[in-house]
Amino acid sequence: MTSVLTAAAPLQTFDVERVRGEFPALQQTVHGHPLVYLDNGATTQKPNVVIESLERYYYLDNANVHRGVHELSERATDAYEGARETIRQFLHADTVKEIVYTSGTTEAINLVAYSYASRNIKSGDEILITEMEHHSNIVPWQMLCQQTGAELKVAPMNDNGELILEEYEKLLNPRTKLVGMVYVSNALGTINPVKQMVKMAHKVGAVTVVDGAQAVAHIPIDVKDLDCDFFAMSSHKVYGPTGMGALYGKERILEEMPPFQGGGDMIDYVSFEKTTFNKLPYKFEAGTPHIAGAVGFEAALKYVQNLGLGVISAHERGVLQYATQRILEIPGVRIIGTAGLKCSILSFVLNDVHPSDIGTILNLHGVAVRTGHHCAMPVMQHFDVPGTVRASIGLYNNREDIDIFIEALTRAKQMLT
Ligand code: PLP
Repeated sequence: MTSVLTAAAPLQTFDVERVRGEFPALQQTVHGHPLVYLDNGATTQKPNVVIESLERYYYLDNANVHRGVHELSERATDAYEGARETIRQFLHADTVKEIVYTSGTTEAINLVAYSYASRNIKSGDEILITEMEHHSNIVPWQMLCQQTGAELKVAPMNDNGELILEEYEKLLNPRTKLVGMVYVSNALGTINPVKQMVKMAHKVGAVTVVDGAQAVAHIPIDVKDLDCDFFAMSSHKVYGPTGMGALYGKERILEEMPPFQGGGDMIDYVSFEKTTFNKLPYKFEAGTPHIAGAVGFEAALKYVQNLGLGVISAHERGVLQYATQRILEIPGVRIIGTAGLKCSILSFVLNDVHPSDIGTILNLHGVAVRTGHHCAMPVMQHFDVPGTVRASIGLYNNREDIDIFIEALTRAKQMLT
């Protein structure tokens, strides 16, 4: 078996054909057509190195982590903690104490809402988010506002799907205790100026939570440079397994936060009279974790790092530009999300055809896209559409994929209009 952590060798230039060969799921046909996978915003396909890492873990190393005295438990613990170090490096955090495993972005944001915000936010305070958030960065704050009496404020975007920074700034005030911001909108592809937004939020003393779910596969992340207080991510959006993710939090803030859930591993000492909690980051990790998930997450991050995020994003930018130009050749297409700074996402509507009808026909041509509200209903409300068709580009997509997609879309249009 190939070694688990031998990720792809560094490439001088981005060899997309070679990269495609490293993703077994891409080698299949769907409805008699070669699969064109353009649903990377929902989840990415996994390269061999990730699949092999999971296989090897379960074949050889499977054991519970921490406190085990036997060989397998030591191996599993080393792999699990080694993966944490890889995540730390990927995010450029100072210490592994700042990297908390979660099941994904959603759980990471909920952890902040329950553990940090429910303690530090009270009636009369304000939480500020943007109009282009995913439901994961709306609903936890709404629930918190209901519990505490705090108020949820929303910074608007313009009709290109760009945040109106002056409006955002106007909404910041000493009552703003927390700001949630999406780095890359999953519905529009907009890249937000999060570094600047964090700086502005800090001026009024607010704590910042960056939803990095759609950013990590496309943009190099440096949490110290961003200076955000929390950063949430999911493994499956960056070529790793589902059910796995991480929360970065500044050590000083995490230290002050109470545990999120109670159970094994998060404790230091338990008696019926009193329990004391484990140190960082374990106090936030109750119960047996997703050990294989961490192993696969590490393999995915190493894979991406070896290819180079700079090279990946340049390649994807070219494919997105090509797709944008080609789709505009089809009369009746309206692109939803035309920000100056975008990545990966091409969301659109076609005349008044229902997006799911388009998606269904594309599927018959082997083209996988997502249709609907993309868990960002307020974005759909802004653009007054029931939903969109969303093609989202990953590192293995090429211009040929786009040509097939455009051809299938043209056929769909002929059938539906
Ligand atoms: N935030 C954004 C911008 C997303 O695109 C997603 C998933 O689509 C999430 C949060 C939630 O991620 P997960 O379902 O992996 O927790």
